[in-house]
Amino acid sequence: MAKVGETTLFLDLAALEHNYHYLRSKIEPETKFMAVVKAFAYGSDMVAISKKLEKLGVDYFAVAYVGEGVLLRDAGIKTPILVLHPLASNFDDLIDRCLEPNLYSRNLLTQFLEVATANKQQDYPVHIKFNTGLNRLGFGENDTSWIAQQVTNNETIKVKSLFSHLAASEDPNERAFSLGQIESFKKASDALIEQLGYTPMRHMLNTSGIINYPEAQFEMVRSGIGLYGYGNEAAVDAELKPVATLKTIISQIHEIGPNESVGYNRAFKSGSRKRTATLPIGHADGINRQYGKGRAAVQIHGKMAPLIGNVCMDMIMVDVTEIDCAEGDEVTVFGPQNSAESFALGAGTISYEILTAISQRVKRVVLND
Ligand SMILES: *Cc1c(COP(=O)(O)O)cnc(C)c1O
Repeated sequence: MAKVGETTLFLDLAALEHNYHYLRSKIEPETKFMAVVKAFAYGSDMVAISKKLEKLGVDYFAVAYVGEGVLLRDAGIKTPILVLHPLASNFDDLIDRCLEPNLYSRNLLTQFLEVATANKQQDYPVHIKFNTGLNRLGFGENDTSWIAQQVTNNETIKVKSLFSHLAASEDPNERAFSLGQIESFKKASDALIEQLGYTPMRHMLNTSGIINYPEAQFEMVRSGIGLYGYGNEAAVDAELKPVATLKTIISQIHEIGPNESVGYNRAFKSGSRKRTATLPIGHADGINRQYGKGRAAVQIHGKMAPLIGNVCMDMIMVDVTEIDCAEGDEVTVFGPQNSAESFALGAGTISYEILTAISQRVKRVVLND
């Protein structure tokens, strides 16, 4: 990996390729693969990641919002893009960039039909989402006749896929609930397909769904976190390779006497002599205050250095009393050796949150393109 002169998020496209092939190996060869690249590809680099995935042959992309899809189209991405959470105010942009909306409610479907009709669209590709227990977005099982009526009344839209989302695919204790969701999705989608008179694709599995419920892969799966190298369980993590490595350097080292404090609000008090390192990364870069006061640690020369005191906007201080290090030395916040999942765990959160939090101020460097 290149030498580090400032806080940098390295993105290893060889790791991405490895993870893609691993996830593909868990599904049937004919099952389509939708790569979820919302939130800047889980805090990495949406364009670099999507271009690599397009080369690898993914069948679909998913983003959360229309603006994210616009970014991908402007970067030259040609693969179909599902917008998971479109808002009616963005429908003109959506149609302009050939983005495909998830129509999740009567209200949204009606509004989309109006805009698409006004735009003289024919067979515009849309996706229908069913709520099967997450209670977030989606139609109910008994909305199928209404949906079929709207769709078959005109030739404006064409349903490309039907989908739903599992609430606890990573949790073996919720297996019965997940199987119930799969059953209810089957029922609703079977009913709608019969009334539509044609057969859209179906998809329900996210990364942990692919691992735990491969029998419910239908015609497509949707994976996000797995592509970035995290699998929500140790056995899967062991097979995947983290794409992102967050590195920084030591700006300054201080020798702290026994009764001193470190940082704002004097949140750290030294009981004994300490050596601290100040690092040029703070909550404005995505290392939230929840990671301070010893709840997370960075790695310096292979040893763990806990964050001490409060996280500042542009800096953190870490305890290097037991580590032989100097100003300018390299620091790994997270990466293959100290995973984002374990960094997150100490602060009571998950890999998804720390990865997507890394702000746009942090320089991105793409490796192994
Ligand atoms: C974010 C998201 C995914 C991806 O989930 P992972 O656990 O990251 O694989 C899949 N489907 C929907 C609807 C999502 O919102």
